[in-house]
Amino acid sequence: MSDRKVRVRFAPSPTGPLHIGGVRTALYNYLFARQHGGDFVFRIEDTDSNRFVPGAEEYIIESFKWLGIEFDEGVSFGGDKGPYRQSERRDIYKKYVDILLKEGKAYIAFDTPEELNARRETTANFQYDATTRGTMSNSLTLTAEEVETRLNRGDQYVVRFKIEPGEEVHVDDLIRGDVVINSTILDDKVLYKSADGLPTYHLANIVDDHLMEISHVIRGEEWLPSAPLHVLLYRALGWEQTMPRFAHLPLLLKPTGNGKLSKRDGDKLGFPVFPLEWKGEDGTVSSGYRESGYLPQAVINFLALLGWNPGDDVELMSMDELIRKFDLAKCSKAGAKFDYVKGWWFNREYLLATPAAELAPDFVRLLAAQGIDTTPERAAAVIDMMKTKNIEYVDAQSGQNKKRNVSFIRDLWPLCDFCFVAPTAFDKEDKFVKKNWKEDSAETMAEVARLLESLTTFTAEAQKALIDPWCEQTGAKPWNAWRVALVGAGKGPDMYELSAFLGKEETLRRIRFAIDSL
Ligand code: GLU
Repeated sequence: MSDRKVRVRFAPSPTGPLHIGGVRTALYNYLFARQHGGDFVFRIEDTDSNRFVPGAEEYIIESFKWLGIEFDEGVSFGGDKGPYRQSERRDIYKKYVDILLKEGKAYIAFDTPEELNARRETTANFQYDATTRGTMSNSLTLTAEEVETRLNRGDQYVVRFKIEPGEEVHVDDLIRGDVVINSTILDDKVLYKSADGLPTYHLANIVDDHLMEISHVIRGEEWLPSAPLHVLLYRALGWEQTMPRFAHLPLLLKPTGNGKLSKRDGDKLGFPVFPLEWKGEDGTVSSGYRESGYLPQAVINFLALLGWNPGDDVELMSMDELIRKFDLAKCSKAGAKFDYVKGWWFNREYLLATPAAELAPDFVRLLAAQGIDTTPERAAAVIDMMKTKNIEYVDAQSGQNKKRNVSFIRDLWPLCDFCFVAPTAFDKEDKFVKKNWKEDSAETMAEVARLLESLTTFTAEAQKALIDPWCEQTGAKPWNAWRVALVGAGKGPDMYELSAFLGKEETLRRIRFAIDSL
């Protein structure tokens, strides 16, 4: 088994936008595949046509493209083990259904939905299994002729897996160890439905994992209850020797820790649960990480540590480092709290580490929405000036005003409006203005303006070289009045830096305007 080529898959059902938990599952598969020089397969599990949502497949592909998670084969990626869309593999599944039937490991059942419902009403906790199958209409209770007649006249049927009770089924899980379940509690799962000629998830999943030579099944904890059935199916089909190894990942929990993370938590607390924005058929729009201003590397780094950690206290890791360090054995069994505030922190770290020039186009777009027309160079200069500042926000959990670091490009606008829009009027009663524009401010600022006027290069350094000594000699402290003139409020960067950004002409214009108005 150990010399088997690593091949893993991500196998979503196209039932809507990809949940962030699914993204984490795909990421772990990707890291595992890359670390072992293996293959990563993208399979679409669309055998439940009732739940098919148009656009979901394209959405999932675009999400991974944005995140930098790459597949080696599968839907839209090619490969020689396709087709990779289950709805295109009907004949393949039918063959194995027939084998199971022929070998007596599965049986045909004719019970209609009405009959099943009636049974559920009369029998408490009814389950279709070894104790009840003998009382239902199926190929175990009907004669061969009766079955033949029904099939010939076109009665709808399903094929059920015949589970033998009283056996300990072992699932060897790379995260959870030996998980044992008694087969008595399992029901005779439907494997195939004549109505649409399609297998159910369980059969299609096992057949494909086998035919696509999947070596490891890494998936969410919600699939653990299906795993014993899958083990039995591998055995029934004679594929025990090449059965993939399982790893069931911990659940993503609500930020509070109690219960599974849901879209409602995101809506309530103001964080996305989808990688990209999603427009539902009913017109509702759900926010996405991309549109909310997260950087893809930050999302990757944040998700990688939800359920796994390298054990060395290092939190910031590039994709390459994650690939090197990832270890299924170090994944936790317990659910991982979705700490979205930590997500902000990751985004800030990546924002600080990304050259402003790369972030500028996004900022230019955001500024345009505010009616500001500027160049990427000007936008980049503002990013560099303002990215280490704090912003105020309302904490969704407590309703209180709090402060946090700038973590998104969109945080910058309320902090930097004065970079693009000059104060047009001063409120003399405003606390900041009143406190900082004093009796002698007009005189001091007139002198500052006179000195600045003489500069030919208007850099922060040149201003500093001129103004600092003058302050020392005269004891002048022009900073707060300077801020009143350029910003009009108690915020913003260092005055030399801001003046350099605004340029000589605009700086002098704002200073003179303040002198005149105040
Ligand atoms: N189609 C399943 C899903 O939507 C795949 C589960 C598995 O990985 O076996 O998650």
